[in-house]
Amino acid sequence: MSERIRSAYVHIPFCVKKCPYCDFVSYANRTDQKSAYVEAVCKEIRMTCSETAQLPDEGQTGRSEAVVPGDAGLATVYFGGGTPSLLSSDQIGIVLMQLRESIGIQQNAEITLEVNPGTVNEEDFVRFREAGITRISIGIQSFSSVLLASIGRIHTAEQARDAVAWAKSAGFANISCDLMTGLPGQTVADALDSLDILLEYEIPHISFYALTLEEGTPFFERFHGHEEYLPDSDSERDMYHILLDTLQSHGYDHYEISNCARPGFESRHNLTYWKALPYYGFGCGAASYLHTKRIGNTPDLDMYLQCMGSGKKQLSDIRTEIVEVDEKERRKEFMLLGFRLLHGVSGQEFSDRFNVRMDEIFAVELRDLADRGWIMQEADTYRLTLKGLDFANIVFRAFV
Ligand code: SF4
Repeated sequence: MSERIRSAYVHIPFCVKKCPYCDFVSYANRTDQKSAYVEAVCKEIRMTCSETAQLPDEGQTGRSEAVVPGDAGLATVYFGGGTPSLLSSDQIGIVLMQLRESIGIQQNAEITLEVNPGTVNEEDFVRFREAGITRISIGIQSFSSVLLASIGRIHTAEQARDAVAWAKSAGFANISCDLMTGLPGQTVADALDSLDILLEYEIPHISFYALTLEEGTPFFERFHGHEEYLPDSDSERDMYHILLDTLQSHGYDHYEISNCARPGFESRHNLTYWKALPYYGFGCGAASYLHTKRIGNTPDLDMYLQCMGSGKKQLSDIRTEIVEVDEKERRKEFMLLGFRLLHGVSGQEFSDRFNVRMDEIFAVELRDLADRGWIMQEADTYRLTLKGLDFANIVFRAFV
């Protein structure tokens, strides 16, 4: 039987200004449509739930209680973007209320809000907490104002420090901060300086991502073919490994390729993705994984608002992609995503999910990757080696 859906992602596609490296679904200068958007998302939630409730294995019971007891309802909700911190706490509260009414939210659910330091003040964090947010994820990227300006971020180093301090003083214990590596002009020392500040603040969850040149972005136009203006791949790898070593020496667990956490502070929501479990995705540009289907919503904000705002009652109007995922694909996804986790892919979990042995289905791939020294076996679990961290993309491709 399929697993119940325990996670929901809500995409908030508004930004103050588009960063030149970003290819996420996000729109600048459209914040006047926030209220209409919140209404549209609530409508999508209601419609999705009445649709999935017809499917016995996938559906969740419609319910009106504010909080669902025990382990029924959503265990995680994630407001991502775009810039979700552009929503008011009241607007966040409206979406959470809709989720509670339509699906239910567990009492100890992890409810994350992504925050851009250039959009918040001290009072906002207090209000986000009152609205039900339990985890804050702050897009710091760097504590160098020069580097932040060079990548077109709207915030300064001082605003980044303020955001961290305000999140803590509002009472948030579960805080995640993102850092970026491979930025134009960035040195290993720059990356380490930013990490040191997060360690001073005792931030329990830290993510670090390399800048990538995405086609269609201004950075792609500027740097593609001119990579000499960016740190070379050896320097970028040095930044990655020194951040990692430093975090591990401070007691953080490197639980996912780009994520470290103090024990108990791993992102429960993102673990849903990495464990290839089902999740709802609501909003313009959001993706859902409903067991056998991957569903993509339109990235066109006007179309999304028009369809959800009109009298039309068809979810198919906003769904631009529906892909059936067969058993064979699901097994590959389990491996591909599972290898992102440093604790690896478990043979027991694989056979529980698919009723076949992992080392039979993927015998050739596992042997080949182990021979290259990129993965290792411990009991029935396979995981990346230290060397494999630098070849992770090739490891993933073995299962595509
Ligand atoms: S704030 Fe985030 S989502 Fe918005 S443009 Fe910048 S990187 Fe993209």
